[in-house]
Amino acid sequence: MNTKELDKKYVANTYNRFPVEIVSGKGACLVDENGKEYIDMGAGIAVNTFGMADDGWVAAVTAQLARFQHTSNLYYTEPCARLAEMLCTRTGMKKVFFGNSGAEANECAIKAAREYGVTKKGGEYYNIITLKNSFHGRTLATLAATGQDVFHEHFTPMPEGFLYAEANNCEALEKMVEENKVCAIMFELVQGEGGVNALDAAFVAKIAELCEKHDLLMVDDEVQCGNGRTGALYAYMHFGIKPDIVTTAKGLGAGLPIGAVMFGEKAADIYKPGLHGSTFGGNPVCAAGACHVIERLTDGFMAEVSAKAEYIKNALAGASGIKSVSGMGLMMGLETEKKAAEVVSAAMERGVLLLTAKTKVRLLPPLNISYAELDKAIKVIKEVCEI
Ligand SMILES: *Cc1c(COP(=O)(O)O)cnc(C)c1O
Repeated sequence: MNTKELDKKYVANTYNRFPVEIVSGKGACLVDENGKEYIDMGAGIAVNTFGMADDGWVAAVTAQLARFQHTSNLYYTEPCARLAEMLCTRTGMKKVFFGNSGAEANECAIKAAREYGVTKKGGEYYNIITLKNSFHGRTLATLAATGQDVFHEHFTPMPEGFLYAEANNCEALEKMVEENKVCAIMFELVQGEGGVNALDAAFVAKIAELCEKHDLLMVDDEVQCGNGRTGALYAYMHFGIKPDIVTTAKGLGAGLPIGAVMFGEKAADIYKPGLHGSTFGGNPVCAAGACHVIERLTDGFMAEVSAKAEYIKNALAGASGIKSVSGMGLMMGLETEKKAAEVVSAAMERGVLLLTAKTKVRLLPPLNISYAELDKAIKVIKEVCEI
């Protein structure tokens, strides 16, 4: 049997895969089983920060792999400690917990918020406000945090303690905070899966104000929009806020599984030994790769990310069949006249891999994609969207 047949027969049926097998790649160029080349505008869903098989990242990872691959968290290891230091230095956050995925990072943040509510305010202060149309992960608690009923349907009863506020409605949020026993507000600054929509600056300022006034933890889910994706190291830096907790994953590892929860001053001492943990968390190979990622995300590099984003936006906004362009940096949503799925398959036919988010076409290219590759991708996107 070939790969597709084996996969269909033996891999659990949780994904609708495209009829393409990826066999190799370099940067933003991917190659399928027939030798056909694609420009990758999805980067493994914002994971492959520098695309496929990036030389610097491969060197960092393989050097650590040749030293040792894992120790458990019973021992100190250098890549984990160095990565935590780099993240704190660059963000001003105080401590970092490492896990293996976005959902686990958010689980850790949710547990921290509950612990904070219980110890600071009392046992009933376990409610966390999240936003409608959000996405926080696939574990039971992060599904419960996800403000979309469709994700809850098959898995009731959901863990309790989540309230869903409408994004960008300041009054409703304020009322919800005042009328409930709340410990935290959790949000994505750019809702990724929900359709690539950035929150309004005024609403973000309101979240910050309410967290300050009512002693709530401000929990910023940057699993998708973090790690240089929006043209800042973390998207909160565009909004002039200081979250108490920032979660991230996807692009941090550039292709290896690592998630991080960064704790600011107010949240730094919530966890004590025994309250949380992870066997693989802070794995030295993943952490060595992540150190390389953070080192590469200099101000100059991120200015290039913003410039590329402007370039794409200028080329696509107002083009035939493209109704709007949303998002921040290299995290973009296109509202198209044609159905998003049709646009994606027509583009794939012509050698460009795109994603969808709800009804939109979503672009999440590797951050180091070249202008030549962008030009080819833009040309194809315009052709397949045209009406
Ligand atoms: C992808 C994503 C998650 C879940 O991450 P996993 O690594 O798939 O568990 C959580 N939050 C946001 C905003 C995401 O985009």
